[in-house]
Amino acid sequence: HTTIFWFRRDLRLENHRALSAAAERGTIVPLFIHDASVEALGAASKMRLEMSLKALASDLEAHGLSMIFRRGDPHEVLSEMIAETGATAVFWSRRYDPAGVAIDTAIKEELSRDGIDARSFAGTLLFEPWTVETGQGGPYRVYTPFWKAVRARAVPDVLPVPKLVGMDKGPSSDQLEDWHLSRDMHRGRAIVAEHVQAGERSALNKLHRFIDERIGAYKAERDFLDRGATSELSDALSLGEISPAQCWHLAQRAMQEGEQGAEHFLKELVWREFAWHLMWHFPNLAQDNWRREWDAFPWIEDSSDPKFLAWCQGRTGVAIVDAAMREMYVTGKMHNRARMVAASYLTKHLGVHWRLGLAWFEACLVDWDAASNAMGWQWVAGSGPDAAPYFRIYNPDTQADKFDPKARYRRRWLAEPYEKPTQTALQFFEAAPQSWHLDSVEAPKAPIVALKEGRAAALAAYENFKSQ
Ligand code: FAD
Repeated sequence: HTTIFWFRRDLRLENHRALSAAAERGTIVPLFIHDASVEALGAASKMRLEMSLKALASDLEAHGLSMIFRRGDPHEVLSEMIAETGATAVFWSRRYDPAGVAIDTAIKEELSRDGIDARSFAGTLLFEPWTVETGQGGPYRVYTPFWKAVRARAVPDVLPVPKLVGMDKGPSSDQLEDWHLSRDMHRGRAIVAEHVQAGERSALNKLHRFIDERIGAYKAERDFLDRGATSELSDALSLGEISPAQCWHLAQRAMQEGEQGAEHFLKELVWREFAWHLMWHFPNLAQDNWRREWDAFPWIEDSSDPKFLAWCQGRTGVAIVDAAMREMYVTGKMHNRARMVAASYLTKHLGVHWRLGLAWFEACLVDWDAASNAMGWQWVAGSGPDAAPYFRIYNPDTQADKFDPKARYRRRWLAEPYEKPTQTALQFFEAAPQSWHLDSVEAPKAPIVALKEGRAAALAAYENFKSQ
């Protein structure tokens, strides 16, 4: 029996329930479709996807299978492939974003009507979103009870790489390079790629190194900006190069062995689960204020607003915010603490709508994850479920003193204040688009919105909003 295996954001071979089930049926045709959802990805995540697909194709090659790359409407592509290969089944791992769910539901119905065994599997999350319910039934809206509800749940054991059998002569395939998935990265491509390690092998290595060397200190160190104390697995998790279950089992074992930070790492993995739980139950999480009363707040919503542009370009004059924005532009990632501080400065001091910040992160992050990004932004802005209250405004200077006490992070990412800037700080200028005219512009001498005034203005806007 031949099964078409439709890869999406589950780009690995180990611990892959759907792939293992397909392998049990017999011959496999591994397929990736460049559809509208791929087209819609941000520039950095498209580039990161290309790197991941290349790694997966090469891993499959080592098992004697050729990855098939096709472009078009998924239902049409799948139908063509079924006709070409005589496949009787199409398997895939579930996705949970509203657009993806709608497409998959329709395709499953259509294929099943044609007598094809169309089956979807768990694999991207630890717990399927609908299986976690409050005592009254229905979704959780607050993280801590969600964590309590899942922390002792059983997670299925990790599956080995299945024995894979491909077709002798597979159907034709596009060349991945011809898709030019990195095109939108302009001249920054090579620089960002230098900071990325793609593929399943490197994700597993990273996980093992983290568990062996850093998990013990994770809780105490994770908020410091320059210590590299976290797992750095978010991009691999987002593309499914590694599954959260593999992280979960190793961290559980470390916890049983008495590693102090292990439970905290488990909690972070559950933040990712919580984000997808929210997105599943509240599909507009990335578009609308979750608390609709925030629709009336006077946010700046114009993406050509100079304050917003200065923030995107790392030129607000607030060192920690600028360092964070440049880190993201050069590496495709930003430290979690820095994400919170940069997002807070944008939404509070600058008064810009979180949706604009979310979109800029979506364009720049290699670890972009629809749910975590949306939850993160609504959390900081104060409009989300279980969000920090709006009036709790981070002071960027205090955050910098606390989490970057020796200014190493700022020195790493900012060139202007230093006589001998670091290589990474200079990379920002190499990567930045010419249209930003960074060569001819001096660094702002003072913050575009001073911390004290920005905070006072944000609080005044909030008071006014509350009293309406
Ligand atoms: P670790 O500290 O090693 O944590 C392990 C894993 O747990 C992470 O890889 C991630 O999958 C998950 N995790 C950790 N913290 C969070 C969190 N707060 N929310 C959800 N999952 C978490 N994360 C993304 O993966 N993609 C995004 O697009 C994204 N956008 C964000 C936007 C904002 C405004 C904020 C405040 C946070 C955002 N995060 C996002 C969450 C977090 O910043 C990153 O997951 C984290 O920095 C990744 O580093 P790490 O892999 O070393 O994490």
